[in-house]
Amino acid sequence: MEKVRVRFAPSPTGGLHVGGVRTALFNYLFARKHKGDFILRIEDTDQTRYVEGAEQYIFDCLKWCGISPDESPENPGEYGPYRQSERKHLYRKYAEDLVRKGHAYYAFDTPEEIEAMREKLKSEGKGNQQYGYAVRHTMRNSLTLSAEETEALLKINFPHVIRIKMEPNELVVFEDVIRGRIEMDTSSVDDKVLLKADGMPTYHLAVVVDDYLMKISHVLRGEEWLPSAPVHIQLWKYLGWGHQMPKWAHLPLILKPDGNGKLSKRDGERLGFPVFAMHWTDPRTRETVKGFREFGFLPEAFLNLLALLGWNSGTEQEIFSLEELTEQFSLERVHSSGAKFDFEKAKWFNHEWIKRTPASGLLPLVTEIYRERGIENTEAEKMAFVIDLIKDRCTLLPDFWDQGYYFFQRPGSIDVTPIVSKWNEKKDLFFNELIRTLEVMDFWNSANLEHGFKEIAAVNQLKPGELMLPLRIMLVGGKFGPGVFDIAAVLGREETIERIRQGLAELP
Ligand code: GLU
Repeated sequence: MEKVRVRFAPSPTGGLHVGGVRTALFNYLFARKHKGDFILRIEDTDQTRYVEGAEQYIFDCLKWCGISPDESPENPGEYGPYRQSERKHLYRKYAEDLVRKGHAYYAFDTPEEIEAMREKLKSEGKGNQQYGYAVRHTMRNSLTLSAEETEALLKINFPHVIRIKMEPNELVVFEDVIRGRIEMDTSSVDDKVLLKADGMPTYHLAVVVDDYLMKISHVLRGEEWLPSAPVHIQLWKYLGWGHQMPKWAHLPLILKPDGNGKLSKRDGERLGFPVFAMHWTDPRTRETVKGFREFGFLPEAFLNLLALLGWNSGTEQEIFSLEELTEQFSLERVHSSGAKFDFEKAKWFNHEWIKRTPASGLLPLVTEIYRERGIENTEAEKMAFVIDLIKDRCTLLPDFWDQGYYFFQRPGSIDVTPIVSKWNEKKDLFFNELIRTLEVMDFWNSANLEHGFKEIAAVNQLKPGELMLPLRIMLVGGKFGPGVFDIAAVLGREETIERIRQGLAELP
């Protein structure tokens, strides 16, 4: 088999949507699995849609996910440049070659002329108002003008584009690795512009020329590009490269949670979940949306959940490391039907990954969350211990704050509601005795604390079960947290005693 070379080819037009990252991931996995190359190519030929910062954002997202390209604008290989805007000089000759071969033509129509054509077709009740085989012989182009006229217009640099000449009633047939045999009729496709008046290629020309020049072996891209496939396939053939055409694989759409249509940024806003990989600030509106990273997802979990949006291993296994995904991934196991996005399931993946990640791996992330909330001096050893104590209770990274801040700062208020109605003098006496015992306890650890606590309860003929909730509420402020003696062990003698004292003061 020829060397596998695949590309992720985003346009820098905004934040990177989960669908985009999933495309990048599948390309990455396919390349790794086949010991091939994973290329990042920036498709920025549409300057009107160019958004400041969007390119850097793509680099940063891939870095955060840990799926770095082998060749990219940042790390060029021998097929550069990797930004289409920097390849502008390459494309014209291919477009002109197509004109020479009769598969494309110069079109000199002004926007007004095109608009007039559309209006006319509309008034005649024609549903299809595209610039294509049905109307091109009525327009101002090198098919209707004489060679001399065309030459003269080109000479004076009359604004023009180059359009593909799509032959109608042809069946474009190709094998999609995921979807099988696909047949598409060329009649529904218009004469797409290949080269614009400013000399920039359009996406259609650039994608084909670059996939050819960069020796791309497989095109793995979203299903939304399927309607463009006939144009691309015809271009491959018209340019004389048909025998080198890459294999096609159109990945299933990622659908809204209810399965009704493609997942959009707006769904995330409406339903309160992230749709972008990382936070994205639109430079024009300054509007910021939080991404998976800011919601508190681990990159491992993010990749894992993305991999299963459209692919499965054929087994019950759901948790996969990037290495396992690389070993097990195959395009044959990618489904053709859309994959519903389920945020609850996404959180489940994160919870599983938090549980599996050693405290040392979580430490910098959790420390940062505490720092952002004003707690700077979280001693690393203590924090690592706390992380291990509470990580089973954390689904998203900010939960490490809610589940653990009281180890580092006294709770602002404590909620005694669950215990106040059953509070009595005996309990009050118990806690006072407990304080005296704790003051002189030899070895401050969880086991000794539990032992001492239960002994005093027995002497006072009280059930330890009834005393544990009050102790918990005094120490953490509410009905949550890990084992209460573990908590006291971490808090230390002085702080534990002080919190019990303060708790007693709030009770009758
Ligand atoms: N530039 C296209 C995009 O923005 C790439 C489509 C393709 O992979 O051919 O997704």
